[in-house]
Amino acid sequence: MVKKIQEFQKKFDDDHFSGWNNIDYNEKLLYLSTALAGEVGELANIIKKRHRKKIHGLAIDNLKEEEYTQKIKEEIVDVFIYTIIFCNSLNIDLEQEYYKKSEKLKIKFKNGSTKR
Ligand SMILES: [Mg+2]
Repeated sequence: MVKKIQEFQKKFDDDHFSGWNNIDYNEKLLYLSTALAGEVGELANIIKKRHRKKIHGLAIDNLKEEEYTQKIKEEIVDVFIYTIIFCNSLNIDLEQEYYKKSEKLKIKFKNGSTKR
């Protein structure tokens, strides 16, 4: 499932950003890590604005609840897209790594830890 998404994203990027494969590895890492952090920031900012409105009554953008939800959906997908691009650029099989990590967490949680 995730492999299919990674392949789809690779084709999308090959079609739209043909020069990407010629970019230096260190530059890619720097760009992708900052882009990913930026998208996480955008997601957090929407949640912050929603919280200010809902909890503190400060409506800066005056969005309706469904508009916040839609923006949250869009930003979490941006985070996902950059995660996929990151994995593609570093030849990471995300699905395989996900299950490997899940197995590690199972053992960790079984031994009393609650941290990832
Ligand atoms: Mg975004």
